[in-house]
Formats: sequence, structure tokens, C-alpha cells
Amino acid sequence: MSLHIPFDNSYAALPDAFYTRLDPTPVSKPQMLAWNDALASDLGITGSDATVFAGNIVPKGAAPLAQLYAGHQFGNYNPQLGDGRAILLGEVIDKSGTRRDIQLKGSGPTPYSRMGDGRAWLGPVLREYVVSEAMHALSIPTSRALAAVATGDPVYREQGALPGAVLTRVAASHLRVGTFQVFAHRGHIDELRTLADYAIARHWPDADGPMGLLSAVCAAQAELIAAWMSVGFIHGVMNTDNCTISGETIDYGPCAFMDAYTEGRVFSSIDQMGRYAYGNQPRIAVWNMAQLATALIQLFEDKDKAVEDATAIVHAMPNQLQAAWLRRFGAKIGLNSATADHQPLIEELLALMQTDGADFTNTFAALGTDSARDQFSDRDAFDAWAQRWQATNPDINLMARTNPQIIPRNHRIEAMIEAAVAGDMGPFERLTKALATPFRATDPDLHRPPNTDEIVPATFCGT
Ligand code: AMP
Ligand code: MG
Repeated sequence: MSLHIPFDNSYAALPDAFYTRLDPTPVSKPQMLAWNDALASDLGITGSDATVFAGNIVPKGAAPLAQLYAGHQFGNYNPQLGDGRAILLGEVIDKSGTRRDIQLKGSGPTPYSRMGDGRAWLGPVLREYVVSEAMHALSIPTSRALAAVATGDPVYREQGALPGAVLTRVAASHLRVGTFQVFAHRGHIDELRTLADYAIARHWPDADGPMGLLSAVCAAQAELIAAWMSVGFIHGVMNTDNCTISGETIDYGPCAFMDAYTEGRVFSSIDQMGRYAYGNQPRIAVWNMAQLATALIQLFEDKDKAVEDATAIVHAMPNQLQAAWLRRFGAKIGLNSATADHQPLIEELLALMQTDGADFTNTFAALGTDSARDQFSDRDAFDAWAQRWQATNPDINLMARTNPQIIPRNHRIEAMIEAAVAGDMGPFERLTKALATPFRATDPDLHRPPNTDEIVPATFCGT
């Protein structure tokens, strides 16, 4: 069946200041490695074609463009980033009526590439495919993966020549905090207003003006970060250009799920200061929202009043984060409506886990069974905790719906990539299949934490 994508493009109708129109750069030998049939069907896409998702042919109805944005990277403002290796093909309206972006990532250089080659190698493409689809199966807002195509061309990274690939990413949009920052910093107020109106119409139609938009994004980001925390996810590069207006997780670079629980865990090799450590993510989300607030304030005549209103909204976020954290971690130990009184019970368990390096996922998944106890060397301390916990009458069914049995463990992802580079997509297929039903205990070996020699100490940004 020939490919049909029912494009309905709105971003391409915005003024030229928002993007540069250009086609993807063709590759030598497109080969479809992974195709997400269920997602294609949700998007109303029929057929599939490696040459289109490699960027060699622009499909009918597409309006290819690279989006402009800026952003704070590790706290420093970079006045111009933009899609340096991505091309937005266009948008479709999915079966539930939601507008979704269809974007190629790794599709060749653009005017925003700076020193980069505009390409991606197979490893990070498959990593993003697996992890974003796992996030979706965990019901955490995220961009999705529609296709992974091998290009047949080498990509040169620190490790040497690597096989190139293109990922087709689907997102509620690719609007970021950095999209607002670029116009605010340039003093381009008309564009900033157009963007705010566009974001409200597309994502938060109930929001009342820019302050309403800020409130909505703060609330969505607070929920998102609490959701990440609840599954032990570390994003790794929470720069403002990787922080969405829709509240979806985006940009899976050096991200990882923790094995042993460590509050200060960092994976990203370039995050020397631990800015984006597991336990720092709530604070960083608030910092990112303060940057969005700073940009949106430019839209108001009465700056003092705008600063006051925006400050109140951003300052409300720690409480929102805390409430969402308590609800999610309460559910993890079987509490339907956890209150502040339950907080010490949760924190004491986490403290015990940290002391003993207990596996985050497996401890919660096994709570109430002997194998939870096996995670701890200080059994007496755990037993004392478990006794107090049992007194709360935990809801076992709630726990089973809340605590995943299986997460994309780093050592499994690395092994999957190694196999794929050698031409074997078997581990990729097995991993994606198991991760599609994360609350079911299948494939015992995929649940196992890494042995000492399997631990992946860091993830690399050289994507
Ligand atoms: P990221 O860390 O992936 O969010 O990327 C930050 C910025 O660097 C974005 O503007 C990307 O488009 C750009 N970038 C990352 N990798 C490349 C590459 N290989 N070629 C061109 N631009 C890139
Ligand atoms: Mg990015």
C-alpha cells in the first residue's frame, strides 16, 4: 500500500520569522529498521516508506521546515539554537482530534546546525525510540517514535565512524520555552504575541492570555516531573530548549532510568556539576518556568504588575510539585490519598533504599513480598518500616497499577544498540515488546538489575 499522510499544517502558516523552509537532505540507502504500526494508525497514516522517513522524498502535503528557538544550556543563554538536525514535515490531526507534529531527526544540516553535521547515529535513534515508547506505555506524557530508518551513510563521532539513522518523532508540538526566549530576547514582541496566541490555541485553549498560559505550563511541568521521579527517570539535559510548552517529555539524549536508588544520581557525561541530577529535577523545572515567565512578561504594558503575577505563578510550582510527588509516591506504597502525614513513611523507605543501594524499580514492584526484603542488608530496619507500612492497609491493586515491573534499563539498551549495529534487531524487538506492557511480569531477565560488570556508568551526549 502506498504511503499516505493526511497533513494539516499550521506552523508553516506562521510568519517566516519562526522557521527556515528547507527539505531534508537525501541519504544513500534508506532501510526501515522499526515502524510503529499502532501509532501510524492513530495518526491516520496508511502505508510506510523508508525513502520518505529517511528524507529522500518529501511526501505529498508536507511543508518541510526547521524551527527557530534559543535556550539556556546548563544555565547559560544561547541566543540561537533551532533545529540543527531536525525537519518538521508537518502536522496531522490524530484519531482523538489532537494536532501532532511529524518531525524527522537526523535529517541533515540546516541554517541552525552551527558546527554540527545535522545527523544522528543509530544508537541514540534506537535509544530514543525504545525509551520514548516505554514512557508512553507508563502513561507519562512524551513524544513518540514512528519510525527508525538506517541511512547507509557513516556518521563521525568520538568513537569513530558509526552507522547513520533518522528517527521520525511525533509530538503534541515542538514548542519549547526556548521558542519564546528567542523572540523575547530579541525584543520581537509581535512574534512573541503571535507565538503565545498560537500556543494557547494549540495546547491550552482554556488559558486566559499569557499568564494563563504560564499557569497551565507550570502545572503540566509539575505533573511531568513528578511522573519522572516516580519511575526513577533522569532526563539528563533539562535545558530550556528541551522543555516543552505541551508538558510532554522531549529530547531523549543522555537520559536514563536509575537502577540502584541514589537521590543525587547523574548519568550524563557532560553534566559535571550534577545540575540535572535525579533529585534536582523539580528545582530545575521551576528554574525553567522562571525563564518562560521572564519571556512572557515582555507582553505586558504594566511590567511591575506582570512581574508580580508571574512570580506568584512560578512560586506556586514547588507546592504543585510536592502535591504531585506525594500523590504518586503515595500510590507506589498503596495509599489512595496520601497526606503530608504519610510523607515521612515514604521518605524513610527511600532513605533505606539509598543506604543499601536497593533497586528502585524492583523494590517498589516487590513491596509486600519477601523479595523486597532481599533488597536490603539491614533487614531489621526494613522490617520495622514494613510493619508501620502494613498498618496503613496498603491497596495492593493500586500498587500493581502504579509500580512498573519493567523499565528500559541502561545495560539492556546498550546491549540492544550493540546488536543493532551488528545487524541484529532481535533485542530491539524483544525490548520494545516487553516495555509495551510494563506492569506485567514477563521476561525475567529484563527485570534484573545490571551485574557489577554490566553497569553503564554514564550516558553520552555525542548523539
Ligand atoms: P540537544 O542537546 O539534542 O537538545 O541539541 C541542542 C542543539 O544542538 C539543538 O539546536 C540541536 O539541533 C543541535 N544539535 C545537536 N546535535 C546536532 C548535530 N549533530 N548537528 C547539528 N545540530 C545539532
Ligand atoms: Mg534539544
